[in-house]
Amino acid sequence: MKKSLIVLFLILFSFQCQNYSKIIPITQTRLLMDTFVQIVVYDQDKSKHEINRIIGLAFDRIQQIDNITNSYNDSSLISFVNQNGASYQIQMDSVLYHVVKESQRISTLSKGNFDITTGAVKDLWDFNNDNPFVPDSTVIRKTLKLVDYKLLSIDSDYLGFKTSGMKIDLGAIAKGFAIDEAVRILSVHGIHDAMVNAGGDLKTICTNLTAGKRKVWINHPRNTGEMFGFFRMDSGSVATSGDYERFFIKDSIRYHHILDPKTGYPAGKCISVTIIAKNALTADALATAVFVMGPEQGMIFVENQAFIECIILYKKDGKLIWTASTGIKDKFYLAN
Ligand code: ADP
Ligand code: MG
Repeated sequence: MKKSLIVLFLILFSFQCQNYSKIIPITQTRLLMDTFVQIVVYDQDKSKHEINRIIGLAFDRIQQIDNITNSYNDSSLISFVNQNGASYQIQMDSVLYHVVKESQRISTLSKGNFDITTGAVKDLWDFNNDNPFVPDSTVIRKTLKLVDYKLLSIDSDYLGFKTSGMKIDLGAIAKGFAIDEAVRILSVHGIHDAMVNAGGDLKTICTNLTAGKRKVWINHPRNTGEMFGFFRMDSGSVATSGDYERFFIKDSIRYHHILDPKTGYPAGKCISVTIIAKNALTADALATAVFVMGPEQGMIFVENQAFIECIILYKKDGKLIWTASTGIKDKFYLAN
């Protein structure tokens, strides 16, 4: 819950509008996918009752995706796979199929820096513990044998594990998919100008009503409550992975929840990575992947992808540095 409250403000979405008085957005917020999810609709051609009904349908879809993909929920399909996947193959429903297939695509694209089988090693890092500790290095090394997306056995829509003890964690991709799906539901029901914001990861669709008036803010990764900078966005998706979202500090070392699948330890080269993409699933997963790659490799990777931009914050000689890809560099403004 602590994490949820922090990530709510990870990226603040701001709506700047000279004619604000003419536009009355309708907003609902619910606690879903371990964070606050806010849906804002700006369309003015429907009744408040109708818009609230449609927002409710979008929330239902997010809830449905959460129920399937949340590995903390013992009755979810992914938990069932985690418990039984080494014994026999389990038939995936359409949600799990899509998320797992997309995960595999992004693992291949990112050369294994994104890997949902990080679940086994992630379980060793108990960030929710009141007295968190660094797991034993021998245990981490042994557990790493269970981390490899190529050890997932996928046969049409059946999923299993090639090695016993493996675990899938969809924490770096399912929220993105849920955002995409919520926006799809809004669109199907005739909403054209809206935002779905799940703890800072967000997607917007736009009409002339709001065009040119939206700012997306990136949080300062070290000064809680302060903004680092912003860019303008009409339509698109944004996701951030940061080392300040879920972490503990031991002997002056920060241990956080974004793990390098090759070492089993938190990836240390970045402080935060913001990805801008067409869909939120891609933005969510690539924010994690680029975070693990680090600023140099990560930037080369992003520059080679069509329709993907990034803003990377990292430390050099103790100083906080930012760098951004070609398509966003001139559009990113520091907070002061
Ligand atoms: P958040 O969930 O805070 O938005 P991320 O999108 O970066 O942050 O996802 C981090 C979560 O993803 C971790 O809590 C863990 O469950 C999982 N994870 C950690 N490292 C990786 C990785 N290298 N590849 C895939 N998933 C990861
Ligand atoms: Mg992510």
